[in-house]
Amino acid sequence: MSYVDEVLQTTTERWHYQPEFCQAVTEVLKSIEPAVEANPHYEKGALLERLVAPEKATLFRVPWIDDNGKVHVNRGYRVQFNSAIGPYKGGLRFHPSVNMSIIKFLGFEQIFKNSLTGLPIGGGKGGSDFDPKGKSDFEIMRFCQGFMTELYKVIGPNSDVPAGDIGVGGREIGYLFGQYKKITGRHEGVLTGKGLSYGGSLARTEATGYGLVYLASAMLNAHNNGLDGKTVVVSGSGNVAIYAIEKAQSLGAKVVTASDSSGYIYDADGIDLAILKQVKEKERARIVRYTELKPTAKFFAGEKPWGVKCDVALPCATQNELGLDGAKALVNNGCIAVAEGANMPSTIDATNYFIENKILFAPGKAANAGGVATSALEMSQNSARIIWTFDQVDAKLKDIMESIYGHMADAAVEYGHKDNFVVGANIAGFLKVADAMMAQGIV
Ligand code: GLU
Repeated sequence: MSYVDEVLQTTTERWHYQPEFCQAVTEVLKSIEPAVEANPHYEKGALLERLVAPEKATLFRVPWIDDNGKVHVNRGYRVQFNSAIGPYKGGLRFHPSVNMSIIKFLGFEQIFKNSLTGLPIGGGKGGSDFDPKGKSDFEIMRFCQGFMTELYKVIGPNSDVPAGDIGVGGREIGYLFGQYKKITGRHEGVLTGKGLSYGGSLARTEATGYGLVYLASAMLNAHNNGLDGKTVVVSGSGNVAIYAIEKAQSLGAKVVTASDSSGYIYDADGIDLAILKQVKEKERARIVRYTELKPTAKFFAGEKPWGVKCDVALPCATQNELGLDGAKALVNNGCIAVAEGANMPSTIDATNYFIENKILFAPGKAANAGGVATSALEMSQNSARIIWTFDQVDAKLKDIMESIYGHMADAAVEYGHKDNFVVGANIAGFLKVADAMMAQGIV
């Protein structure tokens, strides 16, 4: 049995009750096999065994009191996966589905994503099974304060810098930052995604969505194509989806769908972004509300948008939202490119189907890396106590996304899998981390 298969077997047996984590490990380890075989010293250093084990995982209790005086208890997590190339970096997710498997899969993916950005950031992730839906501002604030009252013990601007993810946006980061500062007495760059008035970076809000479209464009351009005039299907309607739609439209694409967990909307005229922002950013309402404000649009309850005819698909909602049936529908309808705005939105079956059918497929760890890359730019600005303009940050983001495309495309060619960007992204991300780990000894 090969070294990769051995570690894969031990890991998936040990963590069989953590399916998302096993899925992420399987996808990565399988695709880096040629790079592992080319470096036999990795096995001697038990590199893969160390890579799949978080350096530290913290699980804590978060009690909080709702507006009616009732006491609730949620679980809080921070998985500090790998600090070989920089401080742990990665978001916090507040969603009822959060558990150790989800946080470990996200933390593991984050290692390679962060490495691909070319910036000095390690991999981590955290969150809670707290459900922000339907909570008042004060409830959100009290929960964030309770969460930070434990989290502050394990984070710091040079050790671990959390940010947002699903359910954690500017409002939550503000409350988390306020509590960190109150407890520690330090105003420092311990979180990213901060508001502009207290250390945030311009363009951080837009970064994941814009970056996704920059990368998709780079991939299409390298294949003598482009986004102009393309029909695009987007899932999700959070921060990633909204700014992916904005950038895709500005490059001449027509985006016809958006979704949330209740279903998707189809707008044949192209999504009206002002309405979508009104519904999701201001009213925090369900997506069907879009069709009240734009009656010619249609709402499909409980469905996913993959059956809608398109040239390009951008899954921007959540993990495993795009399975084999969705992949087949997209390919049958003539879709030529898929770029993942969410983390692991495609199942392994769907990913393999895209690759077998020669779809240009950009995995999330490359395609959505613009968010965390801009977080690293926020860290730089905080350390230097300077502020870059929107255009300066946006230009750096575009460069980073183009260089990620270049690195993953080159690694794919070098290891004999031209245009297989899963192999390319995983190998390019892995090698830098592996070399840093080997250089630092058995730790
Ligand atoms: N949650 C985002 C991600 O999945 C951003 C993390 C960050 O900015 O640290 O990469």
